[in-house]
Amino acid sequence: MKLLTFFIFLCSCSLYASSMNKCYINQKDIVLEEQNMYVQIDDQWLQIMSIKIDDQGFYISEADIIRYGAKVPPKVWQCPYCFRWWNLGEKCKNPDCPTNRW
Ligand SMILES: [Zn+2]
Repeated sequence: MKLLTFFIFLCSCSLYASSMNKCYINQKDIVLEEQNMYVQIDDQWLQIMSIKIDDQGFYISEADIIRYGAKVPPKVWQCPYCFRWWNLGEKCKNPDCPTNRW
């Protein structure tokens, strides 16, 4: 299981990464709670320790990851049709979702 999630992590990051150890993330994919920080990469939620920043933007490295997909932040909801995650109060914005085709 751990190997698989790590593989997903490397795959989804490789497009953005300038090196294996940096995964650039969108600010909008970051969820902050009082004690915890999460970031969404594709459909995976990662709990992270810290977020770093350089000229290219926010990034995390593998060492920042506490947990893979173990917990979903409460500030989001999952669309029951396409199973993607969105912020509370936001509608599903997946153009391929059935709710957006009705
Ligand atoms: Zn949807």
